[in-house]
Amino acid sequence: MSDSGQQTVGVNQRPVTVLKGVGPQLAEKLARLQVHNLQDLLFHLPLRYQDRTRVTPIAGIQLGQDAVIEGTVSAANIVMGRRRSLVCRLQDGSGSVTLRFFHFSAAQKQGLAAGTRLRCYGEVRRGSSGFELFHPEYQRLDSEHEVAVEEFLTPIYPATEGLHQNRLRALCEQALVLLEKEGGLDEWLPASMLQQHELMSLQEAVILLHRPPPEVSQQQLLDGQHPAQRRLAFEELLAHQLSLLQLRQRVQSLNAYALDGGDPLRQALIAALPFQPTQAQQRVLQEIDQDLARPHPMLRLVQGDVGSGKTLVAALAALKAIAGGHQVALMAPTEILAEQHYQSFRGWFEPLDIEVAWLSGKQGARVRREQLEKISQGSAGLVVGTHALFQDDVVFARLGLVIIDEQHRFGVHQRLALKAKGERSGYQPHQLIMTATPIPRTLAMSAYADLDCSVIDQLPPGRTPVETVVIPEERRPEVINRVRSGCAEGRQAYWVCTLVEESEALQCQAAEASAETLQALLPELRVGLVHGRMKPAEKTQVMQAYSAGEIQLLVATTVIEVGVDVPNASLMIIENPERLGLAQLHQLRGRVGRGATRSYCVLLYRAPLSQMGRERLGIMRESSDGFVIAEKDLELRGPGELLGVRQTGLVQYRIADLQRDAEILESVQDAAKWLHDEGLNDNVQHLILRWMGEREQYAQV
Ligand code: ADP
Ligand code: MG
Repeated sequence: MSDSGQQTVGVNQRPVTVLKGVGPQLAEKLARLQVHNLQDLLFHLPLRYQDRTRVTPIAGIQLGQDAVIEGTVSAANIVMGRRRSLVCRLQDGSGSVTLRFFHFSAAQKQGLAAGTRLRCYGEVRRGSSGFELFHPEYQRLDSEHEVAVEEFLTPIYPATEGLHQNRLRALCEQALVLLEKEGGLDEWLPASMLQQHELMSLQEAVILLHRPPPEVSQQQLLDGQHPAQRRLAFEELLAHQLSLLQLRQRVQSLNAYALDGGDPLRQALIAALPFQPTQAQQRVLQEIDQDLARPHPMLRLVQGDVGSGKTLVAALAALKAIAGGHQVALMAPTEILAEQHYQSFRGWFEPLDIEVAWLSGKQGARVRREQLEKISQGSAGLVVGTHALFQDDVVFARLGLVIIDEQHRFGVHQRLALKAKGERSGYQPHQLIMTATPIPRTLAMSAYADLDCSVIDQLPPGRTPVETVVIPEERRPEVINRVRSGCAEGRQAYWVCTLVEESEALQCQAAEASAETLQALLPELRVGLVHGRMKPAEKTQVMQAYSAGEIQLLVATTVIEVGVDVPNASLMIIENPERLGLAQLHQLRGRVGRGATRSYCVLLYRAPLSQMGRERLGIMRESSDGFVIAEKDLELRGPGELLGVRQTGLVQYRIADLQRDAEILESVQDAAKWLHDEGLNDNVQHLILRWMGEREQYAQV
């Protein structure tokens, strides 16, 4: 826990070791469940519940139900069926049922002799004698005393090896007793907010979820729709939102050079283009310009579907910074893309007398030194590179704008490291982040609340949508014929080999093998190969040959996923597409359909496909809209996978679930804004501390 703020150690910040029976060993097991203090334990919510609150008459039990029954053993015998088992017949006034044990001791058998009264709990299944309970939990009842049934639904907690339900239940129970006695879950949501959003108190919600009364709907709890769950999710999402607002405020209190001018350079660039910027490009550029004109760092995310022309927007933004005497760093996620940007920016900027420097991870020492000098002396206006850009020896003379292309490939840390490079005498660089992975609104609202967003929601005119077909591996010969005839007509094709979860080395080997096979099958074609393990110079050579049309069929790994731009390529085959995320498939597919001819994408899958696999490829066939695809992908796979938790710094929620709780996000945003506007700083700090703890620090790195 962070010790910022002047909070005292409340009941719930106390370590679990204050509980009876918790020593270092148990504490270690609890830590595996991310439970360190009492609050963590209180927020360690059950996955589901069992209903042991009422006894069901035996005549009333139903198949599949988990039931508590009570009765008298009428007979207990060892039966030698396929497996030896102990079979007890239990009867109450209403009927009888079999209890069956495959593992049992002699003592156990004796304890279940005829005449014994039992209470059992177990799942009703179908056995050879009708309804049976296999290995039920049971307890002997003595006829003198009534034994009460459970008062609450029985919680089933996420557990871990060596730490089982009963132990966890007892620990949670201890924490709840302390909570009731001493308090400790302070209410940081003002009463008016609770009322407005119809929220129960935090303490009430926590207690209810650990001890639901029998009348609570188990289904509602399972679906996460119970008001108590909603209450907790609301607060967690709110805390997260508040921390992002805070981060954003912090950024906005920093200084940056206000940028103005640059129009002549922009006009010169546009005049040299064979096309006009689209309306969407112009609008987004205006949004960027407004940010740049302020003396605080811009933090803007530009989303635009594959091919929407983000590069040009970046170039025009860069010109404004360069005209103001600043340097611009453009960071791309792969060598190939960085190289391609380098080429296009040189083509655009050198006629404007702007020098473009270039840094690659695999550059020779001499070349690198030359480039570094241009950067540190300031003769280079624009510097293009991969993450090589934020290595220690890269020193910018006067970095004013950082542009990051295809953000989803970079971690928050990398982004911030580059930003740190730009700090000079109290001034921060502006940041422009571009992504073709459309971020569904719900995610954008929560994962990127610290960024402003612009959307290029229009493709340049004259594009023809890519027609996508889903074909099983068995029809590979047809697909190869299609490549043959396409290329015979002067087109070009990509053949993409995928192999996730395996090493990059294996992926490259697979691509090499495919290239050989395809070359053998298509001897009349010039087949090229590009993969991540080739030397940069080799890669560049191959890509240039492909651009120039000297190579007709390019076999590649997913290295060509982002940014590569060869308009004459109009056919793409993706092997084993079921292995890739939809966003990634969409990116890949965006490499074709860039010219005027009709383009095709063949998803060559290996049968059998799972239900989910079928649905996902179906989405690719049906939609060419990156936003639709991302929304569906989110529905099918959940946010973590879509964005990649580590890659984006997207917080893992304890209780909230962005999909399940999407409908409350809007009220969460309102509430966050309201707390801010009302200046309820104490509440804000406590909420952030409670839910984010040290993670909030991480967000500031
Ligand atoms: P992405 O948004 O995927 O990065 P690019 O910036 O690579 O897209 O642009 C894709 C292609 O569209 C490039 O060849 C680019 O030159 C071209 N392009 C960009 N803007 C326009 C426009 N307004 N009109 C026509 N073509 C454009
Ligand atoms: Mg791009």
